[in-house]
Amino acid sequence: MVRYEYRCPACGPWTVALPMGAADARRTCPTCEEPSPRRWSAPLLNRMDPASARERLREEASRDVPEVVTSVPPAARRRVPSDHRQARLPRP
Ligand SMILES: [Zn+2]
Repeated sequence: MVRYEYRCPACGPWTVALPMGAADARRTCPTCEEPSPRRWSAPLLNRMDPASARERLREEASRDVPEVVTSVPPAARRRVPSDHRQARLPRP
């Protein structure tokens, strides 16, 4: 079970424990029954290294609110080999 956080416009934040991946983008507030949007947070991220936590949060947010790009991302830079003999090796 994972604790998911929602924010009611009238009552404030509240949490609910659900199976992983079962959280909806909106849930009814248990107090006033207003539809409440989900707050994107990941519990226990302070125990992970910051890079993993950032990617995990980004991955989870992209399920419902994917990032939209307006142009093609630039190509990755090719690594320059430190040994000149590596330049003669066959390429895949
Ligand atoms: Zn409420």
